Amino acid sequence: MHTAPPPDAAPRGVVVVRHPLVQHKLALLRDRGTPTKIFKELVDEIAMLMAYEATADLALDEVPVDTPLERTVGHRVAGKKLTLVPILRAGLGMVEGILRLVPSARVGHIGLYRDHDTLEPVDYYFKVPGDAAERDFFVLDPMLATGGSAVSAVASLKRAGAARVKFLCLVAAPAGVERLAAAHPDVTIYCASLDRELNAQGYILPGLGDAGDRLFGTR
Ligand code: URA
Repeated sequence: MHTAPPPDAAPRGVVVVRHPLVQHKLALLRDRGTPTKIFKELVDEIAMLMAYEATADLALDEVPVDTPLERTVGHRVAGKKLTLVPILRAGLGMVEGILRLVPSARVGHIGLYRDHDTLEPVDYYFKVPGDAAERDFFVLDPMLATGGSAVSAVASLKRAGAARVKFLCLVAAPAGVERLAAAHPDVTIYCASLDRELNAQGYILPGLGDAGDRLFGTR
């Protein structure tokens, strides 16, 4: 069966990375039979390929370079170091792959849990580098499900002064995309797939299950 991925139908502000390698790896990731070690490697590889897309508009400065033959003009990513902000814990699985592409990136962390009564996310850990206003931030979470954590994480970053934020996930649900886009219309969302829906437990369908459990071998 040679079926191409569905054509571009992404909502405004959403980039679905349809590169064949990303889609190939995503299918392996969804497979319930994929063991933890391979799952982790796939998350790492997809995150790196997605970061390639998400860094495509980084500003550049010109720099002089002396080749063995003459002086020329090269380019260097401008400004303060890019900052990756994984949402604990599943977002951690995306960090190493992106760092291989952007080794100088800084890494912040956001920890959130869901309050049992209100069902709203509560911040329990927040640490990002200073000078937030001058940095580009990539918030990382493999699953954009209800969007509650994503909205809260971006709000925390903005309170810290961040002005340029992108959200990188592997699989997004329409409800999460709508909620994040409504709360933070300036934040571009990158995903490998925009899936069909959420089930009653808040899992994405068809999805890939609990990303944290599959990454860390817990269940
Ligand atoms: N978080 C996950 O890990 N998986 C889902 O499907 C939804 C949220």
